[in-house]
Amino acid sequence: MSAHVPTLLLVNILITATLALCLGLVARRGRGDGLFHWGLGLSAHSLAYVLILLRGQADAWISMVLANVLLLSGMALVQEGLYQFLQRPVPRLRIWLPVALAAVAFGLLRERMEARVVLLALLILAQLLQIVRAMLQDWDRTPGRGKAFVLAGLALPGLGLALRAGVTLGGGMNVQSMVDPHPLQTLTFGLVAVSMMLASFGYVIMVKERADARNHELAFTDALTGLHNRRHMQQALAQHLALTRRTAMPLSLLLLDMDHFKHINDRHGHLEGDRVLRAIAQCLRGWLRTQDIAGRWGGEEFIALLPATDAAGARALAERLRTAVQDCTFTTADGQRLPLSVSIGGHTLEPGNPAGIDSLIGTADRALYQAKNDGRNRVEFGSPIDATILVATNACQVSV
Ligand code: GH3
Ligand code: MG
Ligand code: MG
Repeated sequence: MSAHVPTLLLVNILITATLALCLGLVARRGRGDGLFHWGLGLSAHSLAYVLILLRGQADAWISMVLANVLLLSGMALVQEGLYQFLQRPVPRLRIWLPVALAAVAFGLLRERMEARVVLLALLILAQLLQIVRAMLQDWDRTPGRGKAFVLAGLALPGLGLALRAGVTLGGGMNVQSMVDPHPLQTLTFGLVAVSMMLASFGYVIMVKERADARNHELAFTDALTGLHNRRHMQQALAQHLALTRRTAMPLSLLLLDMDHFKHINDRHGHLEGDRVLRAIAQCLRGWLRTQDIAGRWGGEEFIALLPATDAAGARALAERLRTAVQDCTFTTADGQRLPLSVSIGGHTLEPGNPAGIDSLIGTADRALYQAKNDGRNRVEFGSPIDATILVATNACQVSV
């Protein structure tokens, strides 16, 4: 089946121009997502199809040479966008070399349709291979499913062009112009239309998915220390508490509070105080096990959740953390060595214990106060207040 090629080209013009317009309205240069260049690439394609449509009416230099150069420029711009998205240096020479080659070669091959078909396929395939290679190298670092749409969308016209070149070389496509009807022409321009939509939607989805992943990370990470923030820790606590209720695994929790941290701020300034907090976070990361979850609970307080850890294991780990902070050699920007210490309050929930988050934190918090009162730089473990006492105290307060 051969469709009317100018009509197919018109469809491609409408698709690429609409996509380019939409991207042009939302993309901003310098955002590092490559949308701006992707939009430019689509515009170049749109213009290229307009020029191809003029074949036979406009000069061959415009409708043939310039049109093909624009097609390859479109791919080069798309490639630039993708490198920006992947946050890699843009290899300009490699990206634009096929475009320069096209300018020279198509000029020389104006009268040789077969050679042009093969050359176009080779140059576009060279560009596509570079794109596919760059995407596959960063495949695992790119979150979401949009990347698969981009890859599939870009592979389609490559297949179409390769098939078209192969059949042309074998003498099976005897057309004199890019706009002559032939089933392979229909297939190629049909695939181009599908590919433009697939790859462009995929690209927008890919950009959105990465932005979502980054926002999620920001929403759950403490900006100063890079540890999990309080929101994340509350979620992790709820999840592990539910697990402890259902399984035969204990759960331990440590609350760590820097000793006399206000003095550090007062004597050395808040910036040094911030550096100390980062050093403590580093220390926590170094000493906790892979399954442990550490976060900044607020100010100079940290929290560590120790899944599947009984009281003895938690005490031993807390003691190791305390000595690690004590041994931490922190030096201020002006070369002074600061002694650091941390008080730790802990609590362990045995399997099947129905205690809630408040009870777990409350008990560890009371243990922390105990550690402070007993002279700081020490570890204390608490036992929960008897529920009956709590009820009696509350009843008393209500009646007063
Ligand atoms: P204690 O041994 O009883 O825990 O004494 P402390 O001085 O550590 O405790 P206090 O609660 O009196 O002071 C905590 C200080 O931590 C006060 C606050 O200014 C400081 N702080 C809280 N958040 C930050 C922060 O993000 N950066 C810095 N530099 N200081 C902070
Ligand atoms: Mg505190
Ligand atoms: Mg403190």
